[in-house]
Amino acid sequence: MEQYIAELNEAQKAPVLHKDGPLMVIAGAGSGKTRVLTYRIAYLMEQGVDPFHILSLTFTNKAAREMKHRIAQIVGASEAKNLWMGTFHSIFAKILRIESDKLGYPSNFTIYDAQDSQRLIAAIIKEMGLDKDIYKYKQIQNRISSFKNSLITVRAYFNNSDLQEADAMAKRPRIGEIYEEYCNRCFKSGAMDFDDLLLKTNELLTRFPEVLAKYQERFKYILVDEYQDTNHSQYLIVRALSDRYQNICVVGDDSQSIYAFRGANINNIFNFQKDYDGVEVYRLEQNYRSSNNIVKAANSVIEKNKSRLDKTVWTANEDGPLIKVHRSVTDSEEGRFVASSIFESKMQRQLSNADFAVLYRTNSQSRAIEDALRKRDIPYRIYGGLSFYQRKEIKDVLAYLRLVINPKDEESLKRVINYPARGIGATTIDKLIVAAKHYNRSIFEVMEHVRKIDLKLNNPTKQRLEDFVTMIRSFQVMNDSANAFELTDHIIKKTGLIREMKKDGTPEGIARLDNIEELLNGIKDFVEGQKEIDEATGALTEFLEDVALATDLDNDNEDDDRVALMTIHLAKGLEFPNVYIVGMEEDLFPSALSLNTRSELEEERRLFYVALTRAEKQAYLTYTQSRYRWGKLIDAEPSRFIEEIDDVFLEYLTPPLDSGYRFRPMVDSDIFGEVDKSKYRQTKPVSGTPPSVPRPNEEKLRKLRKLKPDLGQPVASNNIAQNLSEGSKVAHTRFGRGCIIKLEGVGNDKKAEIKFDNGSVKKLLLRFAKLEVL
Ligand code: ATP
Ligand code: MG
Repeated sequence: MEQYIAELNEAQKAPVLHKDGPLMVIAGAGSGKTRVLTYRIAYLMEQGVDPFHILSLTFTNKAAREMKHRIAQIVGASEAKNLWMGTFHSIFAKILRIESDKLGYPSNFTIYDAQDSQRLIAAIIKEMGLDKDIYKYKQIQNRISSFKNSLITVRAYFNNSDLQEADAMAKRPRIGEIYEEYCNRCFKSGAMDFDDLLLKTNELLTRFPEVLAKYQERFKYILVDEYQDTNHSQYLIVRALSDRYQNICVVGDDSQSIYAFRGANINNIFNFQKDYDGVEVYRLEQNYRSSNNIVKAANSVIEKNKSRLDKTVWTANEDGPLIKVHRSVTDSEEGRFVASSIFESKMQRQLSNADFAVLYRTNSQSRAIEDALRKRDIPYRIYGGLSFYQRKEIKDVLAYLRLVINPKDEESLKRVINYPARGIGATTIDKLIVAAKHYNRSIFEVMEHVRKIDLKLNNPTKQRLEDFVTMIRSFQVMNDSANAFELTDHIIKKTGLIREMKKDGTPEGIARLDNIEELLNGIKDFVEGQKEIDEATGALTEFLEDVALATDLDNDNEDDDRVALMTIHLAKGLEFPNVYIVGMEEDLFPSALSLNTRSELEEERRLFYVALTRAEKQAYLTYTQSRYRWGKLIDAEPSRFIEEIDDVFLEYLTPPLDSGYRFRPMVDSDIFGEVDKSKYRQTKPVSGTPPSVPRPNEEKLRKLRKLKPDLGQPVASNNIAQNLSEGSKVAHTRFGRGCIIKLEGVGNDKKAEIKFDNGSVKKLLLRFAKLEVL
């Protein structure tokens, strides 16, 4: 048997060596699912399957690169190069470029990133004269995105009275019109947003049977990692493409499904066996990643979820240290603890920075950690913040490049038409937009005909518009002969961008110049890479596509030794020797927005399972007693997820507080069914070694508690019952404002039926409902 097959256990070998036909690998974290997928590809190639016929879909581009790298080691780089491997978005963007004419798009279509989409939606809301406080552009974008991911086109929306009614009830009856205008504008701009890359692929495969047949032939073998987080649109694509040969291999873990909020559908995993005939299901049980304590602790938490497939995960790894739990008084103290703990571990165990990761529930938590790491001179990298390519100065340069490729691109045009300033004001731009709408053309096309159309513009303005068109055209001519680096270099000089930036001598201005230089370096690297593979044509289009689909993980420089900071969502599939999970507090993790239904709470628990199972050797759980949130100091309570871990796996670096302050019972409202009294444990014994960190200053704590009402705290939920009567106006953290229509029950069981302004009616247990009296 080949050497690499010997790197698998028996359970892993079976799916790797599986012959043709559908298979699914369902297994817990760290059990080698990704490894199985990788080795199966290598095995297929060794069996003579042409790499051109293999499509593998990963959750991040980074994961695809790593897989390709490993496969190249096994079968050789030249063979591995021909594999189709990447995220759904990057793979189908490529296919759409080839087939775009069928859908009426140019092959050089622009990909709008989330920021472009939001700007366009905000502009449309403004143009329609709608109230931006009711029509919040980010919410509208989410709504449009969820339509697209469920394949609800504009026409389908207008044929669906339920959807329209729901929007009308939510006081946003014109969402359909915004959606329609948004799609029209994208189309006229020759642009697709992220969701379009999936939606239009579906459209392509359904409307054009010959295209479907072509790609079914092409992708005889399809493999999907992290299948539990595919959405409906992705599901349909995989289904359609694999329909002919049925050589579909999916791997996943229902316990790690954490993207429901973005439309991921866990049922894709549950229904797989129904979707294909003769599915072979493989299970892996041995975890190779984590110490025994971590594996067992993670198991003990995820067992609390009711909806899950039964799975066993064990490890032959040693027990390892206990999971350390640390409490601090404030979030900045939490940051300091993390920084000094990393510092000490590095010293004592001779570790590198890259051996550590700090994971959090929300991006805003990174600030306190960053401050502390900086003070300790510990280099770190934040993932998932603003990606390099989304910085303003970078987007400005990219906007020019995007216009060269596709002058119809409205968002890029609006971005740079008057930047650097060239005397084209907002009124002129508004007139252009109106005319573009009137003639059903792009803004650029209107500008090209500015002398023929009566826009009520004066001559100098017309001249400026023409000059801009001429300039972009000249860049296009240059693009035919020069490479992307030469072109970009020319553009930043010719447009005056560099001059503009140099004028600004502030440190921020200098940093921006550095970023531009970095962009130029990146383009140069790209061009060199292109030369190597002898594909110089269309280089700029490809560069822009890479950039549009780049996530922060993709800019990772492996040689850089830095502590990784990221949200748990982003950490899926990754592993680190030491992991700090910070902000382990109620209302933060689990998030306050997830406490209303069991399924939301279970998704939070899966998220915690993902977090904990990233750790190989040591995990830390930290929480604070108070935290600044939305500019206010909020009293925090330890997360129920700490409570849920069996005590034998925990070591408290700080003792839990005595008295009733301790863990809150699990939230069981009537939505959750029976209240489980066993969850009402009030305190936990201190296990492990005596506390190595002194108890916090009780006086300070008392003071903090006393300060509470003055700090704008919401009325404590438990007391709220006394202040309420039918007709009371209330606000809920998730459902917004509403009015009590009925009260029932007594004492702890008192419930209120509330009609919320968004149209929904909910019955909530007052003891737990996050209500504020208005
Ligand atoms: P996740 O659910 O987090 O995505 P996974 O199931 O995909 O995890 P992998 O990432 O494939 O798991 O494997 C976890 C770790 O265990 C990796 O470092 C991998 O190299 C290692 N590993 C997997 N199988 C074996 C094996 N048979 N022998 C040695 N190491 C293994
Ligand atoms: Mg994996």
